[in-house]
Amino acid sequence: ERTGQHPLVIAGGHACYNPEPMADFIDAFVIGEGEEVFGDLVNAYQAWKRSGQARAELLVTLSGIPGVYVPALYRPHYQPEGTLERMECLHLSAPAKITKRMLAMLPPAPTRFLVPNIEVVHNRISVEIMRGCTRGCRFCHAGMITRPVRERSIEEIVDTLQTALDSTGFEEIALLSLSSSDYSHITDLVDAVTTRFAGRNLTISLPSLRIDSFSVDLMEKLKGSRQGGFTLAPEAATERMRNIINKPIPTQQLLDTARAIYSRGWLTLKLYFMIGHPDETLEDVQAIADLCKAVLAEGRKAIGGRAQLHAGVSTFVPKAHTPFQWVPADSTEQIEAKQALLRRELRGPNLKLNWSDPRDTMLEAYLSRGDRRLGAVILGAWQRGAKFDAWQDQVKHDAWQEAFAAAGLSPDFYVHRTRFVDEVFPWDHIDTAVKKTYLLEEYRNSQQGILRGDCRKQCYACGILPTFAGVRRLHQGDYWKCPEVTRRTAPALAD
Ligand code: SF4
Repeated sequence: ERTGQHPLVIAGGHACYNPEPMADFIDAFVIGEGEEVFGDLVNAYQAWKRSGQARAELLVTLSGIPGVYVPALYRPHYQPEGTLERMECLHLSAPAKITKRMLAMLPPAPTRFLVPNIEVVHNRISVEIMRGCTRGCRFCHAGMITRPVRERSIEEIVDTLQTALDSTGFEEIALLSLSSSDYSHITDLVDAVTTRFAGRNLTISLPSLRIDSFSVDLMEKLKGSRQGGFTLAPEAATERMRNIINKPIPTQQLLDTARAIYSRGWLTLKLYFMIGHPDETLEDVQAIADLCKAVLAEGRKAIGGRAQLHAGVSTFVPKAHTPFQWVPADSTEQIEAKQALLRRELRGPNLKLNWSDPRDTMLEAYLSRGDRRLGAVILGAWQRGAKFDAWQDQVKHDAWQEAFAAAGLSPDFYVHRTRFVDEVFPWDHIDTAVKKTYLLEEYRNSQQGILRGDCRKQCYACGILPTFAGVRRLHQGDYWKCPEVTRRTAPALAD
């Protein structure tokens, strides 16, 4: 229905790694890191404007930019039982696979932000200290799609902060990454930041810390306010579950860390868990409640009745491009039973529990592994009034159910089905450079409870290096955390 007069619509970001549910509404998706491709898109658009060509010509040009996916140039074909049979390329210049954009070196971090004159959520300077994560948690979408790990130098980070502080006047900074304790020189970085900005009375936050006493030492060095509490994310409470998700943290280590946190002056500890991990039982959920109580007991031993515990329990939704892309999500009934157990168990003074609405979880689950046919569902839900579903008072769950029925599709097919190991997925033509065979291997490891460690210490050949061997060869050294590639080793890695 759209013509050349309508605006060009381009989307990007992590959710676009499965673009198909939104394919009907978006002209082009940027897959991967956006910093460089943005210029390519603007150049292509300006050249097209000058040429006076039809919109279709622009789309073909955009599809030739590495990392840009133009869905109009692809047609999905489905098997009789509803799974995808293949994705047909409709134009010779459209690549069969769209490999993500990945920057060899992180570009300079932004330093001149808009300074809002109202209170906003992230009211601070944020500097990304590294991109990517080597821990390999199997549920984690970000950990799989942002590989390889690349780190900024301490000098660059400190200089960036200096410029940003001077140009904005913010008094709060955040040193961001997926796993801050894994930044190679984190102690030196914290020392450098606290020394350079001593006397400026800054609040410095370091989110996403590992669960160990080293993290408590780091937070102590930052001497920040203890008002907001200390946050840790064990994600699961039993060893079996932690082995399945590949996030091994001994319970005793968590209890020791909690005691250290309370003893050093924090009154509130926030623990983040997920329910709905693959193969989870009610015993695993009960263990979350038991662990929270044990942690609070440590707090009471350390500081008495002032110790508080906040447990945030979200519900796992399997994501495309992760080892759990094959698994079914919990049903609403299963989620409600688990949440009821937690509500029953986790009540009492100084204990607070937060959880997510199972119907919101289902909405996320429909879209996260959907195919192009969901475009009709999204349009149908919108026509029935679903417009601001992220707002609790505006969410229209019935509209989504009616839209599924009107489109002749079953939500269960997308959400509660164990997918075939050899199934063609709607996102298979989107290439994160992490191989599907590696994800399958990791899925099988999860079923056997086999752990895989930090890939900085041992490379598991996930696929990043064969795809980006040339880039790595040109950027030797410690900046990347994957093994170096020389001319001699490249062919072997490419196997
Ligand atoms: S290539 Fe090796 S080191 Fe690099 S991200 Fe993959 S598994 Fe980790």
